[in-house]
Amino acid sequence: MKRLFVYNTMTRRKEEFKPLREGEVRMYVCGPTVYDYTHLGHARTYIAFDVIRRYLEHIGYTVFMVMNFTDIDDKIIRRAKETGQEPKELAEKFLAHFLRDMNALKVKPADVYPRVTEHIDEIIEFIRRLQERGYAYEGSDGVYFDVSKFMDYGKLSGIDVDELRKGVRVEPGEGKDSPEDFALWKKAKPGEPKWESPWGEGRPGWHIECSAMSSKYLGERFDIHGGGSDLIFPHHENEIAQSEACFGHEWVRYWLHTGFLMVGGEKMSKSLGNFVTIEELLSRYGAETIRLFIIQKHYRSPLEYTEDGMEHARNSLERLYNTMENIRVAMESAEVKFRWGDAEFEFYEELRRAREGFYAAMNDDFNTAEALKYVFLASNAANRYLTRTEHPGTSLLLKAVEFFRAVSDVFGVMEDYFVERSTGLEEELINLLIGVRNELRKEKRYDLADRIREELGSLGVQLEDTPKGTVWKRKMKAGTGR
Ligand code: AMP
Ligand code: ZN
Repeated sequence: MKRLFVYNTMTRRKEEFKPLREGEVRMYVCGPTVYDYTHLGHARTYIAFDVIRRYLEHIGYTVFMVMNFTDIDDKIIRRAKETGQEPKELAEKFLAHFLRDMNALKVKPADVYPRVTEHIDEIIEFIRRLQERGYAYEGSDGVYFDVSKFMDYGKLSGIDVDELRKGVRVEPGEGKDSPEDFALWKKAKPGEPKWESPWGEGRPGWHIECSAMSSKYLGERFDIHGGGSDLIFPHHENEIAQSEACFGHEWVRYWLHTGFLMVGGEKMSKSLGNFVTIEELLSRYGAETIRLFIIQKHYRSPLEYTEDGMEHARNSLERLYNTMENIRVAMESAEVKFRWGDAEFEFYEELRRAREGFYAAMNDDFNTAEALKYVFLASNAANRYLTRTEHPGTSLLLKAVEFFRAVSDVFGVMEDYFVERSTGLEEELINLLIGVRNELRKEKRYDLADRIREELGSLGVQLEDTPKGTVWKRKMKAGTGR
């Protein structure tokens, strides 16, 4: 396997990627605060990490991926008040939206999506440990992390604690000792959602959830922690302080951060209101165009959203589909070659270069922008080869298809060619027949009922009558060897 290099925000340079456990990558990506619709800015970050995860899987790693949901916090409570909903109801709605949007964008699901409200015990336990070790203290309105006790504070973001202290002030009513300290637990104010704790009723601060929940699922050390670059400070800096103070050792190996998706020179964000929702974009462009739009830039660079950019991505995607279609048609007139001409030698060489370039770019900190150039190189080469020859070589076409399959696997585009999807009709028809068969059996017309079972059987669908009703399974079709 070729060596993979990733840019680590912690060391500010590219480092060779070596996971802590052989063959396995454990990663945590900070998930959304669910109080509004998912927008293209989120998609930028989550598609970027999806491609990273897909690439790691593609080159042979097993990836264990965790993404949290912040389903209780100030913003959720505020928005719920404004809209006259319960915070839980609001969070539930947007959490479901997020999952639906990610699925529609072909972002592979995380293995687990821990939610704050389902991990209050773990969070309390984490804060208790911090208090025991002398890093946390109780103030009038909550429990705080004592930044002055953690010597490495600032190592990720490069922030200087003295400067920080000058820049922030303790707000009236805040019970912290020093401006740079941050809340681990917030004591409940009237009317807010609350949980029992050793410090009275309240709820967790924002940062603590990621320390507590990541360690539950990934242990006290893991490989990759990611998020948008707005999370470097304070969120990730605070996560590091909490986790390393609690465990007493280095926590995460590689810190990866995505650049912003911008509109008119500003970050796309919920608070600025300059966002386009995924729902809207999906209806106009479809998932693969959105993915290609995002993939055309390296994940750490800023990416400006424009309609032109989206149109350009749509055209690029069309070109790829077109190439795949040309290859499919050409397959029919393809043959094994007994002699190569110039066209074969050249196409072979172009494919080899494209493949090599693609993997070299991806191994260089997942440089999808560069990798994509090689995808188009292969696409153009394939079209050129097909115009030059009447009977293309089967093996060469298969090589091209294999390359595009790899691209599809990693980028999540051209899936119409490579991912078999059921339309749902098959299942519906089988269930319909099962329903008819049950009716027939009720009327004791066993001859017809048995015929349905037998004929479905010969099509590779096996019916089983269980106490819970009739279920069906696919079985190998006789004679097809499948
Ligand atoms: P939030 O729900 O605002 O906490 O955001 C969830 C994730 O999306 C974080 O990792 C953010 O950094 C990321 N994110 C939000 N807006 C943008 C944007 N405009 N560009 C890139 N990432 C973003
Ligand atoms: Zn986090």
